[in-house]
Amino acid sequence: MKFADLGLRPEILRAVARAGYETATPIQARAIPAALDGQDLIACAQTGTGKTAAFLLPILQRLGSGRPCRPPRALVVTPTRELAAQITQAARQYGCYLRLRSTVVFGGVGMEPQERRLRNGVDLLVATPGRLLDHLGRGHARLDRVETVVLDEADRMLDMGFLPDVRRILEALPESRQNLFFSATMPDEIERLIRRTARNPTGRRRSAPSGRWFTRSP
Ligand code: AMP
Repeated sequence: MKFADLGLRPEILRAVARAGYETATPIQARAIPAALDGQDLIACAQTGTGKTAAFLLPILQRLGSGRPCRPPRALVVTPTRELAAQITQAARQYGCYLRLRSTVVFGGVGMEPQERRLRNGVDLLVATPGRLLDHLGRGHARLDRVETVVLDEADRMLDMGFLPDVRRILEALPESRQNLFFSATMPDEIERLIRRTARNPTGRRRSAPSGRWFTRSP
């Protein structure tokens, strides 16, 4: 599947071509059109499948067509600082022809530079759970304008004991939002969290998620 057939805007197609990608990976071919359509997604995908672009490209498309605003309109929650840094770098790469601001917050480093960047305004925020809650608790960030949330490597967040933090973050988000969930495996706790959280794009809760389950293979 060619990227040009996925409904992405020219600025994003240019950035993808510049990154050297010729064809979309299976997860990208399935996730991107559904996410662009505003659907909730639940994808079983491991690192190396191209999952980062699968969630970032639709987010960048949505952010690129809205008006910039100070509180973030998209949030990616991921378990480790390495992943958070990689995702932010990828967002800058794929969004290099769009006028968007992304920033990353993770623990183990000073709060102040992160606080400054949050206060300066950001369209896309990438964060590890604990540090994000710290910033929220201190009033450095607000999540009430988030339109799309990504839980990346949800099973790893469970293994690392982050599920209570993740629940608190989800509770701080607007009811009406798009949920994009990515997990290499689907343990019961993650499935329960997702089933409770996922909803249809208009914000009405359903007993089962309105999104789709994707598997790693085509
Ligand atoms: P990820 O699974 O998101 O960690 O991506 C794994 C690697 O695949 C990254 O180095 C990406 O730059 C690369 N990648 C993502 N999508 C594509 C694609 N469609 N074609 C070639 N490489 C890609």
